Amino acid sequence: MKSLEEYLVLAEQSHGHMCPGQVLGVRMAMLGLRELGIEDPIRHRKRLLTYVEIDRCATDGVSLVTGCRLGKRSLKFVDYGKVAATFVDLEAGRAVRVLAREDSRAKAKQMFPELANESKQQLEAYKVMADADLFVVQPVRVAPRPEDLPGRSRSRVACDACGEGINDGRERAVNGRVLCRSCAGESYYERVTSDE
Ligand SMILES: [Zn+2]
Ligand SMILES: [Zn+2]
Repeated sequence: MKSLEEYLVLAEQSHGHMCPGQVLGVRMAMLGLRELGIEDPIRHRKRLLTYVEIDRCATDGVSLVTGCRLGKRSLKFVDYGKVAATFVDLEAGRAVRVLAREDSRAKAKQMFPELANESKQQLEAYKVMADADLFVVQPVRVAPRPEDLPGRSRSRVACDACGEGINDGRERAVNGRVLCRSCAGESYYERVTSDE
């Protein structure tokens, strides 16, 4: 594992700016990995799975440190709107959830009252606050489904309605037909026709 300072330089580069979320994300991942006893996340990336609970700044810091990425299926986004992440050691069968504490914002304000705004206060405070003041660590159990794990696709079928290919068991069985989630009524988009 690199040092916090080294990670923050890399985080600023890949995230595009430095912000309290980068510090939280980087520290959250460093703590989670230490709790799991994983010293070198890049060497152990095959055994690591990370669930992030928010799609905001901190998530980029978590991804940077763990090396877990959406495109590798090692980063899972669960939309809870919480600054929290769960780190899973697939080999050891252990997992730990790390949650940013609500009261760390007020604490940052107390620590750096001279700084101009909350963002600057948090940025500086989050770099130096003790882990226990910043995070809550919970041992948890996570049982990922085989079809959610990294590696080759477990299955591939075509949707009976639109014909598009569907990987890893994401199809739905509806009245004897095999449908993609979109055709099964779970679509996030609506087709635009040419006369609109
Ligand atoms: Zn940011
Ligand atoms: Zn379909």
